[in-house]
Amino acid sequence: MAPCCDVGMHVTVVGGGLTGALAALYLASRGYVVDVYEARADPRHAAPAAAASPSALRDAALRKAADASRRSINLALSTRGLRALGRVGLAERALEMAVPMHGRVIHDKRGKLRLQPYGAAAHEVLYSVSRVGMNIMLLDELEQRRNVRLHFGCKCVALREDGSATFEKAAGGVVEVEAGRLLGCDGAFSAVRALMGRVTRLSVSLEYIDSGYKELAMPAGKDGKHAMPPHGLHIWSSGELMLIALPNNDGSFTCTLFGPFRTLESVRTAEEVLRFFETHFPDAVGLMPDLTSDYINNPIGALSTVRCSPWNFNQMLLLGDAAHGVVPFYGQGMNCGFEDCIELDDALEATGHDWAAALPIFAAERKQATDALADLALDNYIEMRDKTVDRLFLLKCRVHAV
Ligand code: FAD
Repeated sequence: MAPCCDVGMHVTVVGGGLTGALAALYLASRGYVVDVYEARADPRHAAPAAAASPSALRDAALRKAADASRRSINLALSTRGLRALGRVGLAERALEMAVPMHGRVIHDKRGKLRLQPYGAAAHEVLYSVSRVGMNIMLLDELEQRRNVRLHFGCKCVALREDGSATFEKAAGGVVEVEAGRLLGCDGAFSAVRALMGRVTRLSVSLEYIDSGYKELAMPAGKDGKHAMPPHGLHIWSSGELMLIALPNNDGSFTCTLFGPFRTLESVRTAEEVLRFFETHFPDAVGLMPDLTSDYINNPIGALSTVRCSPWNFNQMLLLGDAAHGVVPFYGQGMNCGFEDCIELDDALEATGHDWAAALPIFAAERKQATDALADLALDNYIEMRDKTVDRLFLLKCRVHAV
């Protein structure tokens, strides 16, 4: 990527998650000076044991950071996300840590598996990647850039019309940021969006669905290998419930159980958990040694759709889940946040980096695409909930190799 002509222009990025880190990398590659403010601690410094080996340290860091984020541990990366990583030279590195998934592996109640390939061609695959691993790759890359400064433990608490902002430091005190360009990449419960709403007429809707999710672990077998065929996205469906499992490159799978809150909450004791899984997902039970403690201890995550308009005000812009959070039944939220980065880059290039011209064009065009994605993801959820015997939904559900 070539730097833009006006090298040295400054941008504040709020949120150093997946979208914010990639957006910062795009801007840095164009020559902007970028300050990234992230509310959480640096996920790379989450491991305390100084004497541990580098790989053990990193594994411990990944686990601790995943716990801290309380978000899905792994994600399906598709062509859309890979294309955006590719423009900043990171597609290969992302693929090195990914497990390719060639299709859906459908489990029936008798434990029989059926592969539904994503496409006829070998390249039509999805990749299972670690959320924290992706974040760390992006942060490592940002740290190499002289024109980027990363500020962890800094939470955005105030924002004014001119883009000046206040950040509260976890260690105490505040940081004041001067007026200027600012990207709000701080997720579905965006503080930037809420604060922008105080200085402009920003319409926002955040709509929860009845279902939530619980993450459960399926460790590697005794031989260190995956306990199920590794190169697929495993799916079990039973009434209103759906269990999925995505492979990790250490031989484990991360399983996610989706279902109505009232059902997930009604299962409380170890006996109830076992009975519930033996009824609905019998062939998974023996592969999940920590099932009962995982189920009892892990929280139920809520799922929502965020729509808002306009995404931009003066020199400020919302990106990623802050602008367009979607329910995960298409597996495209992160991919879409990554695609925002490439589309914003195109809009800035097309307008000669005139932010006043680029932001409204980008926001209006992009909103159409993300509204369509939000509808598709909700349609899949409704189809899954209402047509539970219709196995056709599984053909469309959760992830598409685009
Ligand atoms: P986030 O990931 O929410 O990052 C926001 C960052 O901002 C965080 O680091 C946060 O700490 C920081 N922050 C928040 N508030 C402040 C503040 N006030 N000041 C400073 N920093 C702040 N997507 C896919 O593409 N594929 C999948 O397979 C997939 N599966 C999913 C499964 C589940 C169960 C869920 C819930 C989501 C899934 N998604 C998937 C969606 C994906 O997780 C999101 O779309 C993605 O994380 C959005 O990234 P983001 O950077 O915009 O927001």
